[in-house]
Amino acid sequence: MNFSGFYGNEPIKKALNAHLFHAYLIEGPEGSGKHTLANIITNALVCDGEIRPCGICRQCYKFKQNCHPDIIDIPSDIPVEDLRRLLADIVLTPNDGEHKIYRIDKAEKMLPAAQNLLLKTLEEPPHYAVFLLLCTAKEGVLPTVRSRCQVLSLAPLPEEILEEHFRKTFGVYDEKAKTAVLLSAGFLGKALEIYGTEDEKQGQQCRALEQALQKKDAAAVLGVFHFEDRESLTAFYNTFALHLKRRLRDASGSETTFYASLIRLWDSAGEAMQTNINVKFWNANLARLCLKAIA
Ligand SMILES: [Zn+2]
Repeated sequence: MNFSGFYGNEPIKKALNAHLFHAYLIEGPEGSGKHTLANIITNALVCDGEIRPCGICRQCYKFKQNCHPDIIDIPSDIPVEDLRRLLADIVLTPNDGEHKIYRIDKAEKMLPAAQNLLLKTLEEPPHYAVFLLLCTAKEGVLPTVRSRCQVLSLAPLPEEILEEHFRKTFGVYDEKAKTAVLLSAGFLGKALEIYGTEDEKQGQQCRALEQALQKKDAAAVLGVFHFEDRESLTAFYNTFALHLKRRLRDASGSETTFYASLIRLWDSAGEAMQTNINVKFWNANLARLCLKAIA
């Protein structure tokens, strides 16, 4: 498995590369990388490329578009009858590839009756099924369910790794970044969240842009992009990217599509921005991307 973008946690990477289990319980606090890891595993399992995930094959494209038919996200508050129906379909072989992946975020919030129902499937799943259960603490999941899963507990990262990531992403490792890293207890997502929300002005700009996009207010969108220098534009770009990812994580229904497509557009600018920042050009270009999202 290609773990690029997922730092540290070598024992987990080794375990995943050594043998594929039919069920994993991914455990870690908020901001520890549970979703990043679950996405890498999911993407690798559907990918057709040589090094998986390759990021360029047809299956990877469907994964990125959030429309892969063999990836089934189950909400943790699913009513038991709905879960029963959904799990009954597991006997149908995958549509596109070798695996069918069932994912449950916040698995500890599932009703005991739903967990017991899930247990029955975990006891004898078809060979192509893989379950990914995410939770903040494994104790929240019934011991019987836990015993059917390989537990992957995410570990905090050393400060050097976080520092390197901050330097790569923001170009600096200043006092604010150091404080965020310290408060994060070694979890990158947490550190970035603290770093991103600390700046009130940027927070306001993010919310203003988000509201303008929701209301499809083109004039208000253009109003946001008046950044005067490279630093403030890059910082806003990175903060809004995190902001969108958080929103997607908490979204449901049509909101999911909205944020997923916005993230794709926003991310598409990232690499080019790293190589050349002409502030005027990028103000206009990012505004154009946003207008495309609401067109
Ligand atoms: Zn691929």
